[in-house]
Amino acid sequence: MTNEIPQELLWELAGSSKVVALTGAGVSAEVGIPTFRGPDGLWEGVKPEEVATPEAFKNNSQFVWNWYRERRLRMREVNFGVSHKALAELETIIPEFILLTQNIDGLHAKAGSKNVIELHGNIWFDRCSKCGVRVEASMEQKIPRCKNCGGLMRPDVVWFNEPLPEEALNEAFEASASCQFFLSIGTSALVQPAASLPLIAKNNGAFLLEINPNETPLTYYANWSFRRKSAEILPAIVENLRKILKV
Ligand code: NAD
Ligand code: ZN
Repeated sequence: MTNEIPQELLWELAGSSKVVALTGAGVSAEVGIPTFRGPDGLWEGVKPEEVATPEAFKNNSQFVWNWYRERRLRMREVNFGVSHKALAELETIIPEFILLTQNIDGLHAKAGSKNVIELHGNIWFDRCSKCGVRVEASMEQKIPRCKNCGGLMRPDVVWFNEPLPEEALNEAFEASASCQFFLSIGTSALVQPAASLPLIAKNNGAFLLEINPNETPLTYYANWSFRRKSAEILPAIVENLRKILKV
């Protein structure tokens, strides 16, 4: 943990009643779930772009199902990390705190975050590929069929070439446009439309903070950037904020 959080940044955050954070695969990389674009960006030896698509599911549903089953088996062993925990704490300190996540691992909720908008779905749920009914994820090896309509079930996640869930996206745009402080954490800021959320916030007057060990297209626009891992920064922000707010 670091103590090098600038006071001006802390006061800016302390003075914000509505704060939005956007997280990406980086916050979960810390607990051993690899990012797609990092050096271990191959999942079970397969490029995600080749399997996490509607076309792959259409052409080879069982293969895609198996791949997700493997991911679920691995992810289920993983617990949340200090970054997830710090974000859950921020929610309890800040009057209105909304967490937008591109992660599908469900770790924010596991860490205690309540106000979470999942932009890319959640791997712990399945959805019918025909009628859309949503149920808890099955660990069966054979793809289950929908109890309503007989359609094939699929993981309730957003695949490459698919639109984001409309309601979640609208809420995310609304929250970003109306917040006073926006944190972009562990996201490459490349995947649209989520990547435009920090800029919407900034254009509407929010203070934009980025935490990412690597530079991103967002860095240029950020009011402050930490070139560090989120686990090294977020707990320090929470601790210092508590001191300022005396909570
Ligand atoms: P990404 O893989 O494109 O980028 C991850 C970012 O995290 C990179 O910019 C990297 O520099 C940064 N990073 C790595 N370690 C970090 C750390 N310790 N602290 C802070 N930042 C760190 O991921 P993305 O931008 O989130 O987009 C890829 C898509 O893949 C997402 O939309 C998501 O749905 C999906 N995905 C999800 C998971 C998950 O649920 N855990 C994992 C992999 C991919
Ligand atoms: Zn159905």
